[in-house]
Amino acid sequence: MTVAALIVAAGRGTRAGPGGPKQYRLLGGIPVLRRTLAAFANHPEVDHVIAVIHPDDREAYAAASAGLPKLLEPCHGGETRQTSVALGLEALTEQSPAQVLIHDGARPLVSADIISRSIAVLEMNQGALVALPVTDTLRRASDHMAGETIPRDGLWRSQTPQSFHFAAILDAHRRATGKNLTDDVAVAVTAGLSVTMIEGNETNLKITSADDLQLAERLLSGSSETRTGSGYDVHRFGEGDHVWLCGIQIPHTHGLVGHSDADVGLHALTDAILGAIAMGDIGQHFPPGDPQWKGASSDRFLAHAAELAQRQGATILHVDVTLICERPKIGPHRDAMRRRIAEILALSLDRVSVKATTTEGLGFTGRQEGLAAQALATVRFMQ
Ligand code: MG
Repeated sequence: MTVAALIVAAGRGTRAGPGGPKQYRLLGGIPVLRRTLAAFANHPEVDHVIAVIHPDDREAYAAASAGLPKLLEPCHGGETRQTSVALGLEALTEQSPAQVLIHDGARPLVSADIISRSIAVLEMNQGALVALPVTDTLRRASDHMAGETIPRDGLWRSQTPQSFHFAAILDAHRRATGKNLTDDVAVAVTAGLSVTMIEGNETNLKITSADDLQLAERLLSGSSETRTGSGYDVHRFGEGDHVWLCGIQIPHTHGLVGHSDADVGLHALTDAILGAIAMGDIGQHFPPGDPQWKGASSDRFLAHAAELAQRQGATILHVDVTLICERPKIGPHRDAMRRRIAEILALSLDRVSVKATTTEGLGFTGRQEGLAAQALATVRFMQ
């Protein structure tokens, strides 16, 4: 069964003040929309992510989405939210997923748990709506004068995702053309579908004003925890004419001996990430005795550690690798190594450091019997 996420991001969002559409504003240094896309793209149960964008935002979208997995070509939205969603659903007909989660691009703090529950509820139901029971007293007012109190029993505030079986919601949208309904649950209910409520949380706020952006900043900084892991690896020099270091092939008078490609840099870094999320070590996840890892390219180990980190809710903030050897010379390859690691981890280049040192001819690295690497990884957990 395939699951798609449809991210609605075609609005102009002028209420957030000057500085362009709110979904492209920076939140904790990362565009709001990138956070939203990543929440779905990094979720293990989501297969495809499609964004509906404004035609003027193509460049901003390309910058905000660079390097994220599972993204389909964005599609252009229409005049209203309903039209935009309808266009997004039509664009998904090629993939024809079993389920679709429709989510506001301006709700960047949606949790993995809400996404999982939205998918699970569809097993037994036609639709699912994330919402919160109203707890404040509701009152009608006229000219700022308090009027009657409105009973809040049974009242909920709708959030997103709003989730449906794909074929049913596509059909409902086709039949709702021209009706100008405010959200997809309204479209679904009009078509006779039943929609189950899922209790959401306040953190899943929609950023519509400058105040919302500030609140989201406070939620991010106040609810995160930073952890660091370290890794260390050594491989022995043997016969060969090249070594793999940090994902780059380098000609050398010797090779490195190992079950996989013996890339000490990526091995130390993989262990550092596993350390930061307290999930064992590389040998546990990729046993050296297992024939499927013989000669394996170590970028797979690193990518797997990054995926495990994402599943734990950890965002990799920074990695730092130190290679310890007399030869080969690392300097000429350093930038290529940083670029390769940044590519595997989908990080910006300024978050990837590669350094080198010798041991002044001392010890096994000094005698050029082997090559060592150590690494640090810093990750942030959202709580
Ligand atoms: Mg190793």
